[in-house]
Amino acid sequence: MSQFEIIFLGTGGGRFTTITQKRRTAGIRVVSDALNLHLDPGPGALVHSIDEELDPQKLNAIFVSHCHPDHYTDAEVLIEAMTHGTTQKRGILVAAKSVLSGTRECEASISKYHQQMPEQRIEAVPGMKFQVGKIKVSVTEARHTDPDAVGFRFETPEFGDFAYTSDTEYFEGIGKYYEGVRLLILCVMRPSGKPWKGHMTTDDATKIVEASRPEKAVLTHLGMQMIFSGPAKEAKLIEEKTGISTVAAVDGMLINFGETINVQASRKTQQGLNEFF
Ligand SMILES: [Zn+2]
Ligand SMILES: [Zn+2]
Repeated sequence: MSQFEIIFLGTGGGRFTTITQKRRTAGIRVVSDALNLHLDPGPGALVHSIDEELDPQKLNAIFVSHCHPDHYTDAEVLIEAMTHGTTQKRGILVAAKSVLSGTRECEASISKYHQQMPEQRIEAVPGMKFQVGKIKVSVTEARHTDPDAVGFRFETPEFGDFAYTSDTEYFEGIGKYYEGVRLLILCVMRPSGKPWKGHMTTDDATKIVEASRPEKAVLTHLGMQMIFSGPAKEAKLIEEKTGISTVAAVDGMLINFGETINVQASRKTQQGLNEFF
């Protein structure tokens, strides 16, 4: 199996980052020979996929971690792309319960009409395991303002695991879900010293990284205060405290996940991240 390309189509999170597009909110694309997955397709997912020359019609998996617009708005159009304009029952849709069925406050984030287009639909609840091609996925627990929010851990046959926390606050035991992952992608909305219930700060991320000790940690889904504080500086704080290599994602950033974990500022220019900053 070839290595995995993890492309940060968007690195913004939260309402104000979304409505200002201070950072893009297009989510993450994961591409390997048998897998073409869009994770949390927020506003801009379709447009930035096409901009990055990642044909959305090649998708075979769409994962939506919870029912907030910065995670789901483009899911329906990507389902239409994945099913080749709804002409073929293709691919897998994995989404939290709130996304598929709604909550007391919100309707389902993806219409029932679109939910039946993919070949397979999975309601993701913490602790659940399933397979997408050769990848084993386990659903991790997130504690967020959407109580159904989940994270995902991906076990690859050759290169070990990578994982995505989604929006969550720190809680006792969260590190357990990510123990042994090589690459941990954290949704860090807030900088150090600015706690917000249901969300992650740099201090919370430090505790999760400390508990799980990945080979590399990546901060993404950056909120406005995080952006103003300087995400690279926040990443450095984590690195200094934990000794774990930590980077703050930038829009368009590519991680090659294989025998090594290699970060490039842009997929298009194939530039090294160090040259970029
Ligand atoms: Zn979010
Ligand atoms: Zn959220």
